Order: sequence, then structure tokens, then C-alpha cells
Amino acid sequence: MKHPLQPLIDHFSKLPGVGPKSAQRLAFHVLSMPVSDVQSFATVLRHTRENTRYCERCFHITTEQYCDVCTSVKRDNGICCVVAHPRDVMAIERTSSYQGVYHVLGGLLSPLDGMHPQSLRIPELIARVRQAAFREIVLAISPTIEGEATALYLGDVLASYGIRLSKLAYGLPVGADMDYTDELTLQRALMGRTLMENTQ
Ligand SMILES: [Zn+2]
Repeated sequence: MKHPLQPLIDHFSKLPGVGPKSAQRLAFHVLSMPVSDVQSFATVLRHTRENTRYCERCFHITTEQYCDVCTSVKRDNGICCVVAHPRDVMAIERTSSYQGVYHVLGGLLSPLDGMHPQSLRIPELIARVRQAAFREIVLAISPTIEGEATALYLGDVLASYGIRLSKLAYGLPVGADMDYTDELTLQRALMGRTLMENTQ
């Protein structure tokens, strides 16, 4: 007979960074939790999954048609920060030093993994560039191989629109995941952003 905890262990094992031993520890932890806490956790899990979606303008996570940043009257619509993932928006928001809007690509270019320009929200970015009066686009993309390839590609496709194109200063360690970069380092990288070549 299957161990009664096995289905739960199997589910935890599917989470990123959770190995078989951690999955077992988490499953036992659930057993020690008050039933009301488990119920509330299950409800939040389901509610979050069912009620969140991507902002129709910037593709950040939201429960409405547009996200909090896109609907805020306090944000500067003339500057757009391009990031790979919604978690990068959250990392930059934590610095409280950026007042512009965002565009979430939904990943980085990686042809070997099937991530081509069409797989990312690059056409949507170009459509926004054509419609909105951005004076600057900041590429806030991790300095990994895929990140560099994506930044180069975007530099090329955006060069003809006459917008200032900048990228984060290299206070960021090479290969760093922005999500794990501390707020001060990220804030400095934003403040010291550098203009990319071939743009205004
Ligand atoms: Zn948005």
C-alpha cells in the first residue's frame, strides 16, 4: 500500500528547489499544523492560482485587467523598465527608487530551450514603443548569457525608434539573478544605468 503521505510528498517534490528529503519534511510539517491553518493555506493556494493573471499592458501579475503600476497616476509613463519575470518587477519595486512603468518579457532568449523572440513579449513591447511616448527604456536584465543575448537583440530592434536605451550598471555580479540581488545593489545599478551604444 502507498504511504499515506506519499501524494503530498509527490506534490512538494514538484516545487522548484525542493528535493525528496525536503518534500518529506514539509509533508510531516503539514501533519503538525492545526487543521484550520492547513485549510486556510489550501484556500489561499487555490484562490491565488485561480484569481491572478497577467496585466494586459505590461504582463506583470495582477487580479484585474491592468496591474497597480499601470493604473497608478503617480508613475512616469515616459520611462519603461524591461524585465524578464514578474519577480524582477517585485525586486525593483522593493528598492522604492523607480517611478516608471514596466514591460515583462516572460523569459529570456535561449534558442536551445525554444525561447525565440516570438516566444517572448517582444512584439507587444514594440507595439507599446510605437504607441506610447517613452523617452527611455531601461533594460533590467540579469547579466547571464541569455540575458546578454536578449539585451543585444532588444538593442537592435529598438535602435530605430529614437528612444534612450539604457541598461543596469554593472554593480550586479555576472550571472546574478536579480531577484536575489540585495536592494541597495539593485538601487545603485538602477541609478548608475548606462546608455547602450547606437542609441540616443
Ligand atoms: Zn501593468
